[in-house]
Amino acid sequence: MQLHNTLTGTKQPFVPLDPQRVTMYVCGPTVYSYAHIGNARPAVVFDVLSRLLRRNYPQVVYVRNITDIDDKINAAAAKEGVDISVITNRYAAIYHDDMAALGVLPPDHAPRVTQHLPQIIQMIERLIENGHAYAAEGHVLFHTLSFKDYGQLSGRDEQSLMAGARIEVAPYKKHAGDFVLWKPSSADQPGWDSPWGRGRPGWHIECSAMAEALLGETIDIHGGGHDLIFPHHENEIAQSTCAHGGKPFARYWLHNGFLNVDSQKMSKSIGNVLLVHELLKHMPGEVIRLVLLTGHYRQPVDWNDEVVAEARKKLDRLYGALRELEDVQPAANVSAPEGFVRALEDDLNTPMALAELFELARAANKARDAAEKAQIKAQMLDAGQLLGLLQQNPAAWFSHAPAADDAPTAEQIEALLAERLRARQNRQWGESDRIRDDLKARGVLVEDGKDGQRWRYA
Ligand code: AMP
Ligand code: ZN
Repeated sequence: MQLHNTLTGTKQPFVPLDPQRVTMYVCGPTVYSYAHIGNARPAVVFDVLSRLLRRNYPQVVYVRNITDIDDKINAAAAKEGVDISVITNRYAAIYHDDMAALGVLPPDHAPRVTQHLPQIIQMIERLIENGHAYAAEGHVLFHTLSFKDYGQLSGRDEQSLMAGARIEVAPYKKHAGDFVLWKPSSADQPGWDSPWGRGRPGWHIECSAMAEALLGETIDIHGGGHDLIFPHHENEIAQSTCAHGGKPFARYWLHNGFLNVDSQKMSKSIGNVLLVHELLKHMPGEVIRLVLLTGHYRQPVDWNDEVVAEARKKLDRLYGALRELEDVQPAANVSAPEGFVRALEDDLNTPMALAELFELARAANKARDAAEKAQIKAQMLDAGQLLGLLQQNPAAWFSHAPAADDAPTAEQIEALLAERLRARQNRQWGESDRIRDDLKARGVLVEDGKDGQRWRYA
C-alpha cells in the first residue's frame, strides 16, 4: 500500500510500526454548530482508509476526537445562556448522526477534550520541565525556537512562519511564533484548575495529549484537512516530539483537499455554507458520500447541482445492476476485484476504484451465466463495502424521495401503479398511458418489464 506523506511530499510504501496494530488519529470537529459538507470530507475519506486498513491488518485503532473546549463554543453557550456541555452534547450527537447517514463507521475512540484535562496538564508540565515551554502571566507558551525541526511539515522557514503566525503583541511571549498551551479564564468563562491558575487549554495541545493517551507516543497515520497543516499539525509535532524526548510523533501525515461550492470557497459572508444536516433532507446520504469520493482525496472537490445529479445517476446505474441480480445468491468467499483494491491501495485512488466498480456493473448487465452473476454480485458488494456504498437493498435505493419537494412518495406511486395495472387488465390503454405520462411529468419513470411495472425517480 502506498500513501502520500505530507512530511516528505512523496508517495511512500506504507509500513506500520507494528504490523499487528495500526494506529490512526484524525482531527475531528469543533462542536458548536452543525457540520458543513466540507467537514464531512475528512470523515468520509479517512473512513475509507480505515476500512482498507482493517482489511489488510489484524488490528486498527482509529481515533477521531471531538473538540469540546473552544472559544466559539463559549460564544455559542453564552448566546443561549446555557452551559457549554448543552451546546457540545447537542452538536456532537448531531455530528455522529449526520456522519452515520453518510455511511461513516464510528471510529474506535471519539475522545473529548473535557475528559482529558489531567493528561493535557501533565503534558504541559513535562514540556515546561524539559525547557520547551514557559509560564508567563497565567499563560503557558510553547517555545518554538526550542524545537529545531519546527516548520518541517509545512515547509515554512523562519520568515514565512512569522508571516503566517498571527502576531499579537503579547508582552509575555519570548518569541512571536510561540503558541499557547494554556490560557487563563475569566470568572464567567469555562475553566479548569491547573498549576498556572484557573484556565483552559489552547487548541493544539489536546490532540497531542489524546493521541498519546489512546495510541501511544508514536502513531502510524495522522490525518485532517490541509488547512490544518499549519499551524495545528506543525504545533502537534512540536509538542509531542518534545514531550517524548525526540521520538517521532506521526509517521505518515495525510491531508485531504478542500471542498468548494459552485467553484467558490464556502464562507458565511458569501452565504454558501451547506450543512450536511440540511442536505440530508433533500438527498440520500449515499449521494453525498459518492460526490465526496468522486475526486481524489488530495484534490479539491467542487460541489454543485451537476455533480449531485451525476452522483444520483451513477448510483442508479450501480443499484440498477444489483437489482437485476436480486435473486442471485452472491458467491461465497469472493472479494472485490484486484484492480479495485490496487486502486485504493495506491494512495486511496477512489476515482480509479469507482471506474473499476462501473466496469463490474457493465459486466453484470451482460452476464448470462449463473455462476458469473454470483461472482460479480459478490465482487460488487464487497467493493461497495470498502467504499461504504451499495449496502442497502436496491428497492430501498429506488424508493428514495428525489430532490423535488412536490415529487410523489413511494406509497403514492405504488397506489397509482396499482390503478394503472387495473386499467391495463381492463385494456384501458389510454388511461394506462395517462398515468404513466402523469408520473413522468412529476419526475417518476415507469417501465414495463417481464415482471410487471417498475419505477424509479428520474
Ligand atoms: P473544524 O471543525 O473547523 O476544526 O474542521 C473539522 C475538519 O474539517 C478539519 O479536518 C478541517 O480540515 C476539515 N474542513 C473544514 N472545512 C473544509 C472544507 N471546505 N473542505 C474540506 N475539509 C474541510
Ligand atoms: Zn488535531
